Amino acid sequence: MENRKIMLDENEIPKKWYNVNADLPTPLDPPLNPVTKEPATPDDLKVIFPMSLIGQEVSTEKYIKIPDEVMDIYRIWRPTPLIRAERLEKALKTPAKIYYKWEGVSPAGSHKPNTAIPQAYYNMKDGIERIATETGAGQWGSAISFGTAFFDMDCTVYMVRASYDQKPYRKSLMQAWGAECIASPSTRTNAGRMILEKYPNTGGSLGAAISEAVEDAATHDNTNYALGSVLNHVCLHQTIIGLETQKQFAKLDTYPDTVIGCVGGGSNFAGMAFPFVRDKLDGSHPDVDIIGAEPMACPTLTKGLYEYDYGDTAGLAPIIKMYTLGHDFMPPSIHAGGLRYHGDSPLVSKLVKEGVIRAVAYHQTEVLRDAVLFARTEGHVIAPESSHALKCAIDEALKCKETGEEKTIVFNNSGHGHFDLAAYEAYFDGSLVDYEYPEELIKQSLKKLPMLNNK
Ligand SMILES: *Cc1c(COP(=O)(O)O)cnc(C)c1O
Repeated sequence: MENRKIMLDENEIPKKWYNVNADLPTPLDPPLNPVTKEPATPDDLKVIFPMSLIGQEVSTEKYIKIPDEVMDIYRIWRPTPLIRAERLEKALKTPAKIYYKWEGVSPAGSHKPNTAIPQAYYNMKDGIERIATETGAGQWGSAISFGTAFFDMDCTVYMVRASYDQKPYRKSLMQAWGAECIASPSTRTNAGRMILEKYPNTGGSLGAAISEAVEDAATHDNTNYALGSVLNHVCLHQTIIGLETQKQFAKLDTYPDTVIGCVGGGSNFAGMAFPFVRDKLDGSHPDVDIIGAEPMACPTLTKGLYEYDYGDTAGLAPIIKMYTLGHDFMPPSIHAGGLRYHGDSPLVSKLVKEGVIRAVAYHQTEVLRDAVLFARTEGHVIAPESSHALKCAIDEALKCKETGEEKTIVFNNSGHGHFDLAAYEAYFDGSLVDYEYPEELIKQSLKKLPMLNNK
């Protein structure tokens, strides 16, 4: 009988991250300084990031060594299991094989510590004493709180108001690791005060919280900023997911036909997908189908424009070329709070634009319905974010039922849903609503892209 869980030994954890920037068909457009709109220099970024991470951000080296101190902490929960979802397959009556990479086993309950640990480490090495950051659903805030705690640093987390109110226990988790958690927009920063003046009752947004954290970092010498997604170095750190997954499939003498992840800012998807993108681009596995799944309420890859836009609401962060819905797009308060960002990783965006990977969008009720099916077949109660990837895997498996194909499908199961039971509660009591794709809002917001007038 085939093992249900495909495990690796600790000494099989990959020793290097994979950098897809080395293999892109065409180079990335450079980030721009938000004031001058000229390509950002390392000096622009030095105010909020350590040089080591700026180096990784622009590196075109194919593999980057994981520091021993980071590996030591990774070993607390890595390698993570690759699990065959046999009971789900049976329930679907599909000939497809469905596997999931289970990132919910980390201390913070998601994939985010994969980058929180190295980010805290590199900042500590640079003499930084405090990290200021934002958090949407609270997953990144908890992950970086855990990361900074392990390197004896302080941490201030600006948490999107809507989530702060929906998920009070995330705040306690951050406090348990020694961080301070503040609802955003707050009155602590100029950016926060300006937004509150304009929208006093706003539930906040990731873009607004980023503005606050960046301002905090830029105005304090001992403080840097850390971003939990979107940036190239974040995607780089997450590739440990896909690299492990490839070793696990190698043990089965198999290579997946379909590789899936959910997309908020793009990091867990990138982490799973990029090693497979490498094999697709080098011709060793040209047919692997790589899919990002996003919410219909914030459909960045499927309905956004591929343009330069600000990374945050106030326009303090660098301008980057990506799929975007416009930096002041305030997405509806859907339960998958981690998927509410207006933009997307430039690397993921580029690969979508080039047709190397593709994207799909789903409504939250269909996503939660599948999450409940997963709980009742596979046991784990997973995050609403991850459930977008699950839904995509189920759709692909059901297509196989039509065609009779025995495809091997793998999705990144990015986290558990133990702090997201409000979403399950809303699903069970029938109050979970689907937001139609907010076309008018997006159109309004897209008119304000910074570089459109320069053309
Ligand atoms: C934050 C989060 C996401 C979305 O972020 P990405 O950068 O797109 O990966 C997805 N799943 C979980 C569990 C998360 O915490």
